[in-house]
Amino acid sequence: MSPSKTIGILGGGQLAKMLATAATDLGFNINIYCPDRDCPAAQVANKMVFGNYYEIENVVAFAKNVDVLTYEFENIDTKALEELEKIVSIRPSIKALKISQDRYTEKNYLNSLGIKTTQFYKIDEVSDIEKLLIELKKPILLKTRRLGYDGKGQVLIKTQKDIREHFLRNKLPPSIAEELVNFERELSVIIVRDKKGNIKTFEPGENVHENGILVTTTLPSSTRKALKNDATTIARKIVADLDYIGVMGVEFFLKEHEIYVNEIAPRVHNSGHWTMDGSYSSQFQQHIRAIMDLPLLSTERHSDVIMYNLIGRVTSNLVNDELAKVYIYGKKKISPRRKMGHINLIKKKGS
Ligand code: AMP
Repeated sequence: MSPSKTIGILGGGQLAKMLATAATDLGFNINIYCPDRDCPAAQVANKMVFGNYYEIENVVAFAKNVDVLTYEFENIDTKALEELEKIVSIRPSIKALKISQDRYTEKNYLNSLGIKTTQFYKIDEVSDIEKLLIELKKPILLKTRRLGYDGKGQVLIKTQKDIREHFLRNKLPPSIAEELVNFERELSVIIVRDKKGNIKTFEPGENVHENGILVTTTLPSSTRKALKNDATTIARKIVADLDYIGVMGVEFFLKEHEIYVNEIAPRVHNSGHWTMDGSYSSQFQQHIRAIMDLPLLSTERHSDVIMYNLIGRVTSNLVNDELAKVYIYGKKKISPRRKMGHINLIKKKGS
């Protein structure tokens, strides 16, 4: 261990806070760069640097003072990071970030590896949507190629009237349209890979989303073992191909015997929060270990667990449950679709 080393994190939200906690447990210093003075990570960081992500000079100055740079969200200008790469080691790599920032690039990349995604179409003009609706004769989900998360940037289009109404008020950014998948369930795999190519995967968790936002992750999932294995194999293929270092979240749709990747996140992921209490290691510890070249830990699950997101609230009837592990992120402002915390409700494995 080299506890005197400093890790820089771009972003100061809850993921950065939990990464910072895991890093400080190992004695590392944590420097955070983010625009928000009240951000959750400020509660645990050694040093905060406030600035916007487009202020490249400030970001470069920040990066000069850290040994390794990582990030908690994908929507960072990769041009700025290319500058930074000359002075500091960035983990996970910019390549993974570039692919995952653009849904169209991401799906083409996955298909090029022989991995199935939902059927998707490139949308540059409103007329592309009109034509597609006529051609497919079924509803489509319009998603912005960039900057969409937690269901943001998504519109369900069922009729030509929906198109007219939506674009009376809104402009069309570069987008994709997806066919709606009538999936049976959603699964995700949290995977970690180190510089030497060692890979560990957590058991796939089953996710429930409402209005595009993750509500619960449950372990174990009753999904058939063969499909869980397929999900894990796909996640392994992706991190190996990218020569990836760190934790990645891979989200899947499952339908009968078929499995599609919905999206990849080159970072720790909300659907991996259960690992904090259900497994011998957490996704946050694993990410810090991978990026700091420390040996990876066991990803074995020791408890059954349901992770409940606290969305738009900081209370729940679960908070006082004897087996509830409560995490409140410390965000100053509560708003209806904002993730304010989460609860891991654990149970003895198999009970
Ligand atoms: P995304 O931002 O693409 O991860 O979408 C958020 C959530 O919306 C997913 O986890 C699904 O629950 C739902 N969703 C996204 N795309 C589709 C689709 N093509 N068909 C059905 N549901 C979808």
